[in-house]
Parts: sequence; structure tokens; C-alpha cells
Amino acid sequence: MTERADGAGFAEPVAADGAPAAATERSGTLPPPLQPRRRPTCAQLVNAGKLLGAVAASYLTRRAFVWGAPAMLMVEPATLCQLHCPHCPTGRGELNRPGGRISLADFRRIWDSLRPPPLLLQLWNQGEPLVNPDTPAIIRHAVTAGTKVTLSTNVEPLVRERLAERIVRSGLHTLILSLDGATAESHSAYRVGGDFTKVERGIRNVVETKRRLGLKHPRLQWQFLLFRHNLSERKLALRHARSWGVDEVVFNTAQLESLKREQGERWLPDDENLRRYVLRGNRWELKRRPRPFCTRIFASAVVQWDGTVVPCCFDKDGRHSLGNAISAGFPEVWRSGRYRAFRRRILSGTRPEMCANCTEGLNRLYAETHRTRV
Ligand code: SF4
Repeated sequence: MTERADGAGFAEPVAADGAPAAATERSGTLPPPLQPRRRPTCAQLVNAGKLLGAVAASYLTRRAFVWGAPAMLMVEPATLCQLHCPHCPTGRGELNRPGGRISLADFRRIWDSLRPPPLLLQLWNQGEPLVNPDTPAIIRHAVTAGTKVTLSTNVEPLVRERLAERIVRSGLHTLILSLDGATAESHSAYRVGGDFTKVERGIRNVVETKRRLGLKHPRLQWQFLLFRHNLSERKLALRHARSWGVDEVVFNTAQLESLKREQGERWLPDDENLRRYVLRGNRWELKRRPRPFCTRIFASAVVQWDGTVVPCCFDKDGRHSLGNAISAGFPEVWRSGRYRAFRRRILSGTRPEMCANCTEGLNRLYAETHRTRV
């Protein structure tokens, strides 16, 4: 698949692939709106019970038990992005693996092998999910299978009204708006190359489409990472959210990609309560030591665009590849010797370097949620 970037800064396919339904949806009649799944099925609840049992048994015996299928899967739609955020390996052009986007056909192959389907699909990882023109069809497929889907975006691709409508109709439960500023200046201080006018239009397109179709979903959640330069804009962000029709705003601490002293001094707020790190020597470290406990390796996984399965989103470069869900099949990878060996490694306390920046098990970090609509 060759790709080009259009004026709105995201890719369109030059050669068609994926299922014909996705191509029709991209250019022809739009499908009827789907409703997000409200309650888990019995099979999903039984599976969740098995996963809890596996976590408990594994930590009690220090052996890696694998019971059930993952309750949560993160799938990476694409590694492309039109922005250049300084703490993002994609934005800096430093992702150490081939880039691309997942096709609808490959997504279906993975999804249809999951029994029961996961409770939750998080549709992002590295890159902007909406650069993949199959993303709305991927959401529909997962929603139809019985999964709640959330997606995190930099919003700009939604400046295209048709894309905004496809997303609203897809059955998406929550659309996370990753915006770290309430003015054009502070927005582009971190979202380098960003255009705040497109952001506002993109949000209004989604809200207007929801109103026109009489839908409550997707729920719009503005995720505002707190940096030194944007602290004074929190009230303005809340005012924008109310006037644009955003449902809630979450002010959250930022994750640093590099833990070197100068990086933190450049970006982090002075107020210790508004950051997750403290400076120790020349390095920033998480304020609290994580518990020697990781549930993600037993209950969830991340699938990169080419099918590579990694334990979690902290493995940005795929250094801990556990197999390929497209060529080998997800259930086979999930139960493979390589995956078990990785779980045993975490259980034994010899964690890889990526775990040093992980918030798993740290549930008292600052995050403030404001409902802006009832
Ligand atoms: S970084 Fe380590 S501790 Fe955190 S979720 Fe991944 S494997 Fe678990």
C-alpha cells in the first residue's frame, strides 16, 4: 500500500485494499448508526472471572497461568501522524520499527479469533488512528462483535465532515480528544505543526453530527496534559468545552519520553502535585515505586499495525515482540512459550527497562475530571 498525505494532513489509500464494504463506506452511502454495547455478555463476564483467577494464582505461586482471552486489547491503526510532538517517538521520527497501517481484513482476522471478544478495544498506540481510512469500519466490526471501543485522536482529521460522520455512526463509545492547550499558541507549543482552528472545527463537526442524528455517542472526553506552559489555560479549556459540546475534561499529568533532567525542567510544572515525577540526581523518576505487580500481562495486550503482539503500550519499538497475531493467530501467541516466559520474567521481578516509566499499580497520581455536560 502506497500512501500520500492530503491537505488535511492525513493519508488516503492510493491502491485499494481491505474489504469492499470499507471502500463503499469511504465513498458511497453511509451505513446506519450503531449503538455502543452497554452491558457485557455472560461469556465476557465468565472470561473476566478466569482472568482474575489467573492473576491471583500466578502471583501466589509465581507461575504464569493463562486462563481466558484478553479483556482489553489495544490495536494500533497506523504509525503515521501529521504532528511532531516532542515526547512522541512517531512525532520525532524516531520509532525504531517499520511504519504502516492495519487493513480491515487483517483486523478482522485477529478480532474474529478472539472468543469471547474483549470487553474493551482501545484504538490507538503510536501515530494518529484517523490517518487510517479503515478506522471507522474497524470500529464497526468490533462494536458488532460486542466490544466497547474508545479512540484517542489529535482531532484535526475530523475537520473532514464525512469522516466525522463515519466516526459518529460507527458505534464508538468514547472519543478522547488529545489537546494540551486552549489557545492556538499553547496548543502548537507541544502539538508541533497543529492547527487549533481545525481542532475546533473537527469537534464541532462531531457534535453537530451527533445532534443531527439524535445520538449520545461517542462521548467526547478532552484529555489535557499538564505542562509548564499550559497551566494557566485550564479555566479557558473548561469554557471551550462547554461551548463546543465536549462532555468532560480530564487534566492529567504528562508522561515524559526521556527522563533526562533537562527534559523535565523544560516541560514539567513546578508544582509537584501536578507531575508524576521527582528529580533524583540527573534523572526524573516516578514519585512512587510501582507495586511489584502487573495485571496487564495477564488481561490485556497490544497489537501493532503489522500484527506484532507486545505486552503493553510502553513497548513502543516492539522490543519485546511476543509473536504475530496475523500470521500465527492471536490465541496461539497469547498462550505461546514466549509470552509465558515474559510473564514469568515480570513475576520474578526482573523487569525490562520500559517498566521504569510505567504507572501500572500507581492509582494515586493526580488526575482531575470535570463534567462539562450532563
Ligand atoms: S511497562 Fe512493565 S509493568 Fe508496565 S504494563 Fe508493561 S509490562 Fe507491565
